[in-house]
Amino acid sequence: MEMKQRMGKRLVLFPLPLQGHLNPMFQLADILHSKGFSISVIHTHFNAPNPDNHTNFTFHPIADGLLETEASTADVIGLFAALNAKCVSPFRDCLSQMLSDQGEPIAFLITDAFWPFTQAIADGLKLPRIVLRTTNISSFVCFAAFPLLRQKGYLPIQDNRLEEPVAELPPLKVKDIPRVSTADPEVVFEFACRTCNEVKASRGLIFNTFEELEESALSAIRQEFGIPVFPIGPFHKRIPPSSSSILPPDKSCISWLNNQSPNSVLYVSFGSIVAIKEAEFLEIAWGLANSMQPFLWVIRPGLVRGSSSGSGATHPLPDELAEMVAGRAHIVGWAPQLDVLAHPATGGFWTHSGWNSTLESVCEGVPMICLPKFADQMANARYVSDVWKVGIQLENGLGRQNVEKAVRRLMVEKEGEEMRERIACLKEKATLCLAEGGSSHKYLENLASHMLSV
Ligand code: UDP
Repeated sequence: MEMKQRMGKRLVLFPLPLQGHLNPMFQLADILHSKGFSISVIHTHFNAPNPDNHTNFTFHPIADGLLETEASTADVIGLFAALNAKCVSPFRDCLSQMLSDQGEPIAFLITDAFWPFTQAIADGLKLPRIVLRTTNISSFVCFAAFPLLRQKGYLPIQDNRLEEPVAELPPLKVKDIPRVSTADPEVVFEFACRTCNEVKASRGLIFNTFEELEESALSAIRQEFGIPVFPIGPFHKRIPPSSSSILPPDKSCISWLNNQSPNSVLYVSFGSIVAIKEAEFLEIAWGLANSMQPFLWVIRPGLVRGSSSGSGATHPLPDELAEMVAGRAHIVGWAPQLDVLAHPATGGFWTHSGWNSTLESVCEGVPMICLPKFADQMANARYVSDVWKVGIQLENGLGRQNVEKAVRRLMVEKEGEEMRERIACLKEKATLCLAEGGSSHKYLENLASHMLSV
């Protein structure tokens, strides 16, 4: 690990308390710490990080005021709105206290993009703010285009136009535009506009991606936002990441993988938020069983709607099915995903196409089956299948026959082999960009000097 001399400058980080946002923020913190910055983390009580996993950082909890009914990811937009309203005073008090403390000067505030309220506070305290957006750039371009998409009549999304291409944002179709199920779509539109406006008012935008993957989106976002943009990913490949897992990973899957042949196992995980219906769960399970391929499945507490979300128990397979896949399947509640993807036995990843999962799969050269459900996942899946051509979309529904066919296409047929070759090339690019002279290496140097220049 690169360990620079301490610089005597402190950065204050404010992560959004969801798994897919905590991981990249803490990886970024590790990277910037290795560049010589000291790190302080302001965090909510909801999904609070464990300070024992990050002993080099100082932690400052604030009261988020969430009611028990609000502290859930069932309605993410509702959660973001509540957090952005309730954290204002506690955050301001905490940050101004830190600024008045004696000690190392604070150079920058780094927040998740989904904390738009923090820009006004940073301005008020004369502290420059940089934003981490935890999606890729291509889907963010689409998110930032909401006003245009509304003007052109694509928004609100109409169900009879889902297959239409969005001419302004190729290769996206109407159904790929970021969508979140919520009672009032206007709230999503307003939150998107507010987020983008406050990003534009910031001093820079960091992405966990790399230039070679998204060149045209990078120029588009630069032009539109007019602030410095730093694609410095893949974060987790720069420094071995410290854990920021909310659920404890079940390591039994690694010993199970050790007994499987190379590239034979399909890893199945739909991330930390997606919830599916019982009927979908059964079609997935039967499709996997009928494919006759070995699989490792993360059945997270809460994955199946209506099943218990707190007990830690996974949703059981029907007995008949469990017997059929015995020895060929391993099921866990939460996996050490980076280790699973890096394991030689893992030959495919059936994912919900969250950006972290997608990038992690690219970095290990594992081709994908995509089952996007909401937000940026549909756009990610479109890039995976149509642009990078390293995965299959499950477009004709989740019927068990479709599932079985997709699994066999990826794991057994030539098509899957070709995708494996293409993603091996992306993996190589993801490695090269971090080396001396590579794009992400260069942008990180720029970011570090940008943060020292004010
Ligand atoms: N993850 C994990 N174990 C699991 C499933 C997911 O460690 O069993 C991690 C995964 O490596 C990724 C994050 O959780 O870093 C999920 O982020 P992503 O953006 O893919 O999806 P989200 O959960 O935000 O929908």
